[in-house]
Amino acid sequence: MVADKQADSQDSNDVLVSTQEVIQTALNKLGYPEEAYELMKEPVRMMIVRIPVRMDDGKIKIFTGYRAQHNDAVGPTKGGVRFHPNVTENEVRALSIWMSLKAGIVDLPYGGGKGGIICDPRKMSFRELEALSRGYVRAISQIVGPTKDIPAPDVFTNSQIMAWMMDEYSRIDEFNNPGFITGKPIVLGGSHGRESATAKGVTICIEEACKKRGIDIKGARVIVQGFGNAGSFLAKFMYDMGAKVIAISDAEGALHDPDGLDIDYLLDRRDSFGTVTNLFEETISNQDMLELETDILVPAAIENQITKDNAHNIKASIVVEAANGPTTLEATKILTERDILIVPDVLASSGGVTVSYFEWVQNNQGYYWKEEEVQEKLREVLVKAFNNVYTTSQNRQVDMRLAAYMVGVRKMTEAARFRGWI
Ligand code: GLU
Repeated sequence: MVADKQADSQDSNDVLVSTQEVIQTALNKLGYPEEAYELMKEPVRMMIVRIPVRMDDGKIKIFTGYRAQHNDAVGPTKGGVRFHPNVTENEVRALSIWMSLKAGIVDLPYGGGKGGIICDPRKMSFRELEALSRGYVRAISQIVGPTKDIPAPDVFTNSQIMAWMMDEYSRIDEFNNPGFITGKPIVLGGSHGRESATAKGVTICIEEACKKRGIDIKGARVIVQGFGNAGSFLAKFMYDMGAKVIAISDAEGALHDPDGLDIDYLLDRRDSFGTVTNLFEETISNQDMLELETDILVPAAIENQITKDNAHNIKASIVVEAANGPTTLEATKILTERDILIVPDVLASSGGVTVSYFEWVQNNQGYYWKEEEVQEKLREVLVKAFNNVYTTSQNRQVDMRLAAYMVGVRKMTEAARFRGWI
């Protein structure tokens, strides 16, 4: 157990260090002075809170939570809150930096923020989760708000949790304040298309990447690692577009069928945390699945899945990162040298925050859009962002990750300069 904890914090430290490394390279390539890096390498604000919750057995349990605000030069900070046993301070820091990059890449008027609570929602009752969600909002209420920092869903948090958080904040504020948080249920001011937005964004990136590589999505082989919010919607979109989803996985294992899996059948059987493979006898490991013959590989689960140890064995033509941080920097280099097109996380997974922005705009206006309007605007934003990163990569002769970071840091650095911070 202790060893596990150390491994986790080592991983999250690596994630922060490698993010800082690419930020520094991106700023150097763009010709910004060292002060820019000094400002961008850490969140400007980090709050650590302790949240007491009375559990169902009558005992009080104290949870630790975080909220990081990376940079608010462009506008209020924005980003999800994850509930997970492996949340660490450094991971939340790194994730807040990634949110700034995403906002820069899709050109939103935001900086990045991120929150997390160390807990295991799979082992908590509805009532305990409500108390924890409300306690977290009370603990961070001073630094968040619709014009300061706007939370949203992330790993193991959903629209119900957003609803409790919005209600708690509205009580503190003494008026209904839907713009405090995004990813809400539609009846509480949520936006059409928000739930599937991350997967829609990934799908648009896949379409654009396929155009560059001359791959027809109809009949193309796709592997999706992870069957959570992003992975399950994505598998469904790919399946409906006529692709052959030859493998999917969850935390317990992977299912493989070279003729294509029946995704509707699997979606019907998946539990609310995205587990489905436990219902099958014939499974393969997640690691073996990544190395299968395929056209498109989508890591949509956790960090550090493609590393220097397996990057040489990846057989996909395109790797689209729906998860945060699935490929290490060494692996990025190997895949790029092997001419595998990588669509990096900060670009591929930016559909969620894009529709969150649309939700916030609708809340601020009090005027709500149709689903088609949301989808049309999302497509416009993502196609532009993909091509901007792709062209930067071609013109500057850098890999897709560095190109995405270069696009992502530019606006916030310019905004910080105009404000006289650097
Ligand atoms: N948690 C999501 C992300 O990592 C969404 C954030 C948001 O909607 O603000 O991009």
